[in-house]
Amino acid sequence: MLQRHCLWDITAPAAPHYEPLSTDTSAQVCIIGGGYTGLSAAIHLAEKGVRVVVLEGNTIGSGGSGKSVGLVNAGTWARPDDLNAELGDTDGERLTAALGAAPKLVFDLIERYNIDAQATNAGNLHMGHNAKGEQDVDIRYEQLSRRGVDVEVLTGARCHEYCGTTSINKALLDNRAGTLNPMAYVRGLAKVATSLGVTIYGQSPVQRLQKIDGEWHAVTHRAQVSAERVIIATNAYTEGEWTEVNKTFYLVSYYQIASEPLSGEAAARILPHRQGAWDTRLALSSIRRDKDDRLLLGTVGARAYKPAAFYKSWANLVQKSYYPDLPAFNWQYEWSGNFGFTQDHIFRVLEPDEGIVTATAYNGRGITTGTMMGKCFADYILTGNRDSIPLPFKTLEECKVTMPKLKSIMTEVGLTLYHSGQCLQIIK
Ligand SMILES: Cc1cc2nc3c(=O)[nH]c(=O)nc-3n(C[C@H](O)[C@H](O)[C@H](O)COP(=O)(O)OP(=O)(O)OC[C@H]3O[C@@H](n4cnc5c(N)ncnc54)[C@H](O)[C@@H]3O)c2cc1C
Repeated sequence: MLQRHCLWDITAPAAPHYEPLSTDTSAQVCIIGGGYTGLSAAIHLAEKGVRVVVLEGNTIGSGGSGKSVGLVNAGTWARPDDLNAELGDTDGERLTAALGAAPKLVFDLIERYNIDAQATNAGNLHMGHNAKGEQDVDIRYEQLSRRGVDVEVLTGARCHEYCGTTSINKALLDNRAGTLNPMAYVRGLAKVATSLGVTIYGQSPVQRLQKIDGEWHAVTHRAQVSAERVIIATNAYTEGEWTEVNKTFYLVSYYQIASEPLSGEAAARILPHRQGAWDTRLALSSIRRDKDDRLLLGTVGARAYKPAAFYKSWANLVQKSYYPDLPAFNWQYEWSGNFGFTQDHIFRVLEPDEGIVTATAYNGRGITTGTMMGKCFADYILTGNRDSIPLPFKTLEECKVTMPKLKSIMTEVGLTLYHSGQCLQIIK
């Protein structure tokens, strides 16, 4: 029986409880938002003795961080040469190098603090699903290997074995990458932060952010935190009218469905080396297994406003196209979430006022980007050196997206048409 519930909420170690903020308090740095960005910043600041308070509006991981696919990827969706074309060679190379090192940052953090994140560092597969997709794999390989990155192109029998399907004849194996349980990771980060002395308040949405006598006050419904510096880490899940950071992206949804634990041939065959995978489709299909050998399929698109059976049909179709000889999977959980998107697939870094920093629009690459940006913000606050940040700061006006709602709707319409085409077997 298919339940509408996020799998990770069930399979992650239990969430610690964080009391709401009920009395006024102060800190050197106040972090708003308890996802990867906020908690990574909290850890890296607390490691250097900084007094940090985190205000989370709901519960830890209730934003994008607890819902993601769990692919720990290096880089943006855009290819490195495209980043250079967009940002210039210096900034493009800097960003590619920083994001290339980000999976190691994630896996090192997990190891250093012994976080039970159900992580594997076996690499990830970008699977060419047709001739154009295979060409994309070749281009990515050429651009990455030119930069000395540890990537391989898998073809023929080796490709079939790694992907577990003869429908994919070429795939890029990125050995830097891997997978984790995203809720386990974010809850683990919160536990580490508190062990380092960070105070986390749950159910404490910030309603106002104001400067009084040179100090910032983050005001919640019951009490407030005063601090010299503020990191806004609310990203695509920003709630309230106290900030305009949510004007820097448009929202795109991502849907996931998980099977019952696989056994027998399916368990032995699908992604046997435990990479996470996604294909080169315009509306990509992501494929991975969790620690209990469930198969997880995902794609860009919203669950809402569609017939209940819509995505189940889509999932059955993906199974049929990649694993036609295996018995039909029993789907157990489905859920979706939103991420902040930009047309160029590059995230935004802003300093909207003196003493405030924020990063937004990770374009579906937040495990690495968020962990990295949290550390970058910590380094920037500690040293004052802008070179700590791998992208130039932009102003809010430069980042504002025009007609974000319309862009979200148009994207969703396009994705629905694509998935319908797949289900009707018009799009192969
Ligand atoms: C379905 C899905 C699949 C994804 N898959 C992947 C993937 O495989 N790999 C990958 O790298 N990335 C993936 N992403 C993207 C990634 O999850 C996000 O980019 C990342 O979680 C962003 O982290 P964050 O800490 O910046 O923000 P979030 O995790 O969204 O955290 C923001 C927090 O701020 C809190 N908040 C909001 N408003 C307030 C307020 N007023 N006061 C206090 N707190 C507030 C929210 O409650 C939330 O907890 C996926 C995202 C989704 C939704």
